[in-house]
Amino acid sequence: ERDQLFLVYQPVFSLRENRVSGFEALLRWLHPERGVLAPNEFIAIAEESGLIHSIGEWVVRRACATLVQWPKEISIAVNFSAVQFQKVTILQTVVAALGEAGVSPTRMEVEITESMLISQHDLAIPLLKSLMELGVTLALDDFGTGFSSLTYLRRLPFSRIKIDQSFVRDMLTQPDCAAIVKSVIALAKDLHIEVVAEGVESSEQLEFLQRNRCDEVQGYLFGRPMTFDRA
Ligand code: C2E
Ligand code: CA
Ligand code: CA
Repeated sequence: ERDQLFLVYQPVFSLRENRVSGFEALLRWLHPERGVLAPNEFIAIAEESGLIHSIGEWVVRRACATLVQWPKEISIAVNFSAVQFQKVTILQTVVAALGEAGVSPTRMEVEITESMLISQHDLAIPLLKSLMELGVTLALDDFGTGFSSLTYLRRLPFSRIKIDQSFVRDMLTQPDCAAIVKSVIALAKDLHIEVVAEGVESSEQLEFLQRNRCDEVQGYLFGRPMTFDRA
């Protein structure tokens, strides 16, 4: 209402196509006294108070308004909280936002975490399936940090798995992290799902991921989250 929220966009780089394939929309709050706040500082409170529903709606609308201004081969990924799936109106929100902006649903990707599926399983699965029938694609975010239940990979047709940045950060120094990263890439390949490594900060990490045939990368090495005029 006070126009203090804004989105920043972080590029996702396709190693196979050697180009930016899309951007992830990340929420920021320009607080009048405290300056720019990261989502970790306010999303949980928005979830508790129920404000996440209207904030989430704003995010989807903003993301669609941005998307129309970008070339057709660029897609946008939007993060959703578990709580947002407690209201079936989320479906109408996404449909209306895409329709009003006039963008193809195939250019929008919904990012959800595994823990979200665990907490909102019965409500979320049918809603997500309806979204996917429209053409919206689905990414499994922060993979490896939850229960890593492989059941979810079968229950929903994910187009992308995002390897959590904690594994990417330590994969060059800790053999267990390297093993997890390699295994998740191999799993994704066998399931014919795209795989994205998050939090790529160094060229050494990039080289490791390229060698292991990771499809896409995201991280400070390729670009920090940036405002619309810079994206
Ligand atoms: P996420 O979806 O895992 O987003 C990636 C986070 O990692 C972002 O933090 C991004 O700025 C940061 N990051 C990207 N590249 C690097 C890197 O190379 N190194 C390091 N150290 N960090 C990197 P951010 O923007 O603070 O977002 C935090 C979390 O807040 C997100 O994690 C997401 O779960 C949530 N979030 C963001 N926007 C929204 C939103 O619109 N709605 C909801 N429900 N949650 C959101
Ligand atoms: Ca995400
Ligand atoms: Ca993530």
